[in-house]
Amino acid sequence: MAEDTVPPEKRPPAPARRSRVVRRRKRKPADPALAWARRLARYRPGLVDDTRAAMRAMYGVPVWQRVHDPTSELVLTILSQNSADINAEKAFGALRAHFPSQSVATEEAKINRPGWGGTGIKGGALPEWSAVEQAPVEELVDAIRPGGLAPQKAPRIQASLRALREARGDYSLEFLGDLPPMEAVAWLTAIAGIGRKTASVVLLFCFGTPLMPVDRHVERVAKRIGLVPPKGDLLLAHDIFLRLLDPGQMHEGHVNLITHGRQTCHARKPACHRCAIAPRCRYVTTKAP
Ligand code: SF4
Repeated sequence: MAEDTVPPEKRPPAPARRSRVVRRRKRKPADPALAWARRLARYRPGLVDDTRAAMRAMYGVPVWQRVHDPTSELVLTILSQNSADINAEKAFGALRAHFPSQSVATEEAKINRPGWGGTGIKGGALPEWSAVEQAPVEELVDAIRPGGLAPQKAPRIQASLRALREARGDYSLEFLGDLPPMEAVAWLTAIAGIGRKTASVVLLFCFGTPLMPVDRHVERVAKRIGLVPPKGDLLLAHDIFLRLLDPGQMHEGHVNLITHGRQTCHARKPACHRCAIAPRCRYVTTKAP
């Protein structure tokens, strides 16, 4: 008898449906930076030490030395956001000329710090920060125009100075040196327009706080070598470096990676033939150990 002529109640029970394979979702690690650092240590052992040694062989060991007071460093770093450091220097010079203070000039020679891509800032009297904060924003935009992106940077500078004055009564950021590193980062990044990189620059270079500023050079080099995940975001890269390096290695790590990005690992044509970390670089071979 054909199946469709059998009344439904007399048909044999349909075979039980195959149970669906239950796919377990990968749980996100509670600390992705720590998870990455462990993975790197397991699958590419010695990569961090080899990178440090290679960078040392190429660029030496930079010496930490405070060059600017933290308020000037903050303003300079804001001026250098998405602009060449040399243009940020021009804008800082213009700021001093437009809003001169009565403070006594100190050094006359140009001062520079390792990792900075400009030619150095001439020592001298600081800008009058209260005048910078209270000037009409258009006036400040005009004053810092030589640095580029002035309409974005002028409000950031004024917001930073205003936040400082309202919270502390003056324009000094020296108190940040007494805070634990991540508290100091949180204080600075609470100000509109101040991100993790800018905060890390100020704290590392003014106080020696063990933080790793990850700018476009550091990010590019680190991703090419494979120190950070190729698709990871900047915030994750900042956190990963805190797991990969000891506190005493941050300044050297930052300065040498940024120097490598400027002098050898160029964005367009990296000079891999003269790079000491080439045998372990994933940009050179995807199977690099
Ligand atoms: S080998 Fe080439 S891509 Fe890799 S870090 Fe060196 S210069 Fe950059």
